[in-house]
Amino acid sequence: MSLAVQTADLDVIGAGFVHLDYAATAPCVRVAADAVQALLPRYGSVHRGAGPRSQASTLEYERARAVVATFLGCRPGDQVVFTRNTTDALNLLARALPPGTTTVVFDGEHHANLLPWPSVLRLPAPSSPAEAVAAADRALGDRTGPALLTVTGASNVTGEVWPLRELAAVAHRHGARIAVDAAQLAPHAPVSLAGLDADYVALSGHKLYAPFGAGVLAGRADWLDAAPPYLAGGGASAWVGDRAGDVRWATGPARHEGGTPNLLGAVALGAVCAALLETDRAALRAHEQELLTRLREGVRRLPGAVEVSLFGTRTAERVGIVSLALPGRDPVAVAARLADTFGIGVRAGQFCAHPLVRRLASVPGGAGCGEAGLLRVSFGLGTTSDDIDSLLGALGLLLG
Ligand code: PMP
Repeated sequence: MSLAVQTADLDVIGAGFVHLDYAATAPCVRVAADAVQALLPRYGSVHRGAGPRSQASTLEYERARAVVATFLGCRPGDQVVFTRNTTDALNLLARALPPGTTTVVFDGEHHANLLPWPSVLRLPAPSSPAEAVAAADRALGDRTGPALLTVTGASNVTGEVWPLRELAAVAHRHGARIAVDAAQLAPHAPVSLAGLDADYVALSGHKLYAPFGAGVLAGRADWLDAAPPYLAGGGASAWVGDRAGDVRWATGPARHEGGTPNLLGAVALGAVCAALLETDRAALRAHEQELLTRLREGVRRLPGAVEVSLFGTRTAERVGIVSLALPGRDPVAVAARLADTFGIGVRAGQFCAHPLVRRLASVPGGAGCGEAGLLRVSFGLGTTSDDIDSLLGALGLLLG
């Protein structure tokens, strides 16, 4: 069933079972599939050919970049670099940091935003948005030299939304920059570099209803243009001489998009961004919040399941992601039963956020879940109240 506010472009394709693992990979929507289908019979190389196929493909690729720039609220001069995914985008940014930059991160991050940084100051995961802002303020105030604060937009474990505007203001007050890992926020809410006054944003197409293989790093051009190319090779080089090392690197996105780019991935992602820009996202969000309330209230009535939260279950704004501690049970075994017996897909474990999950799995009542982790339910476009009820019914049978 699609929402009245949602065009058919955003219908998910290939339904057939209850998929509640959108945070790992969301299903593909119609407009992305159509964009790929339309391009298959006529694509050619991007930025490397004189023929009509090549010309049309170059145009489509650059159109996709322009749409993504609009989708992410890029300012004049910001760059949009196509990458493979969020992990790739954040690794690119890590490689582009000016020498001596300290990166400040919280332990609540996904590993993709915890591990790439060459010189990192790790702060304990905060227990409220205000504490996050205060901790960032202290850490950035204490340091000397260039700094980058990098933070998730919405937690891939709890779905809680981080105080991005406030963190951006703190970073800038101390002369630092801020990067937003929007892998989980962008599928659920508008993310704007200009609106947040953020410096960089990273996302993955496969979590944003496009198929695999394309992600984005968008933001300030200066660090990117000054950095060594992420992938040395054709496309990244403007001129190559006869001696080793005799090379002039391209500037702009091409500098970091060495090799033949992923045209289909970029175009599919651009098509989703265009469709979302045309959609009433506030209405989508309202529907998602209804489903979230239904899920969370149902979970409260379940025996043996405790919703985990970083910022406190009552207050925090969140997207359609909820993780449960199941004291005394193996969440991986419960997830397997949900799949095998009920045809319901969720995820269990530590979700590439080991420090955070270890901490959250030790909530009162959740003690003992430790290394086994949590059970995560996540949803988005195409999810219905029937899906949520099926999950709650199945969990009631398995945990009762
Ligand atoms: N950041 C967050 C918050 C995520 O949830 C994920 C994926 N689970 C990533 C980064 C990494 O995304 P990808 O695997 O697409 O690189």
